[in-house]
Amino acid sequence: MDRSLVAAAPVPYWLDSPERPTPRPALKTAVSCDLAVVGGGFSGLWTALLAKETDPDREVVLVEGGRLGWAASGRNGGFCEASLTHGEANGRAHFPDEYETLERLGKTVPILSIDPFDRFQPGPLNPQGNYSAYLSNVVQNGFGHVCMALSAFSFDAATVVSNTAGVLVLDGDHHYSSVSRDLSLYLPKIAVGGFLFIDDYGPYYPDVVRAVDEVFSNNSEFKIHAKSYFVIAERVRKPGKAPREGRRVLSSRHLKK
Ligand SMILES: Cc1cc2nc3c(=O)[nH]c(=O)nc-3n(C[C@H](O)[C@H](O)[C@H](O)COP(=O)(O)OP(=O)(O)OC[C@H]3O[C@@H](n4cnc5c(N)ncnc54)[C@H](O)[C@@H]3O)c2cc1C
Repeated sequence: MDRSLVAAAPVPYWLDSPERPTPRPALKTAVSCDLAVVGGGFSGLWTALLAKETDPDREVVLVEGGRLGWAASGRNGGFCEASLTHGEANGRAHFPDEYETLERLGKTVPILSIDPFDRFQPGPLNPQGNYSAYLSNVVQNGFGHVCMALSAFSFDAATVVSNTAGVLVLDGDHHYSSVSRDLSLYLPKIAVGGFLFIDDYGPYYPDVVRAVDEVFSNNSEFKIHAKSYFVIAERVRKPGKAPREGRRVLSSRHLKK
C-alpha cells in the first residue's frame, strides 16, 4: 500500500487541476463598494455571486487572504447531504452531547426576521429596533427554534432570502424609496399561492400608500384581499408571467363541453 502511494502527491483532489485559475493580483489600494465579502470559499463566493445576480449594478468586492477555494471548500470529500453531521449514526458517534443541537441547527429555519436593529438611524417615521430585546422576546415566547433574527438592512439581506417564501411581512423603512425598493426586491420571492402582508398603509404613512399603489395598479400577479391599513395580497401568477393579450382563460366548465 505504502509503496503504491509513494509517487502520489499529497494535494487535495479539487485543487490539483490544470484548470485552476492563477491567483489574482493582491489588493494594494483602497476600494469602495456596495457589498464587501470576506473569504473566497463556498460561502463567500456564493454570497458574491447571488448578490450580483440579484442586482447586477451592485458593486461587489470579494477579498481573500490566501487563494480562492484553498481552504475547506477546496479539500472536502464531495458528499452532498443536508446534514451537519453526515448522518445520524456518524453524528451520535462523534458528537453525542451536541447531536440534538446540531440537528436543530441543520434544519431550515422557517421564519427569517430581517432588521438592521441598532445600526438603524431612527427618525420620525421609523423607530429603531433593539436586537437583544427582540431576541429575548422571540425566545421567551417559544419561537427560538423557528425564528432567526438577521441583523441586516433589507436590501442587503435580499440575496440570502429564498425565492419560495410562503408569507412575507413588510414593515420596514416607511420612506417612499425604501418601500419601493423592498417591494421590487422581495415581491419576486413570494411563491404562487403565498401571501404578502404590508403594514402601515394609511394616512400617517403617505409614502407607503404611494409605493404600494404604484406597484399594485395593473398588477395581475397579485390578488388584493384587503387594503385598509394592512394590505393582504396573494400571488396568483409567477413573476413575469402576464397572460398574453387576447388569450382566453378557460374554466373547467368550458372544458367539459
Ligand atoms: C477535509 C474536509 C472534508 C469535508 N468534506 C465535506 C463533504 O464531503 N461534504 C460537505 O458538504 N462538506 C464537507 N466539508 C465542509 C465544507 O467543505 C465546508 O463547510 C465549506 O467548504 C466551508 O466553506 P466556507 O466558504 O465557509 O469556508 P472556507 O472554504 O474555509 O473559506 C473561508 C475563506 O475565508 C478566507 N478568510 C478567512 N478570514 C479571512 C480574512 N480575515 N480576510 C480574508 N480572507 C479570509 C480563508 O482564507 C478561506 O479561503 C469538509 C471540510 C473539510 C475540511
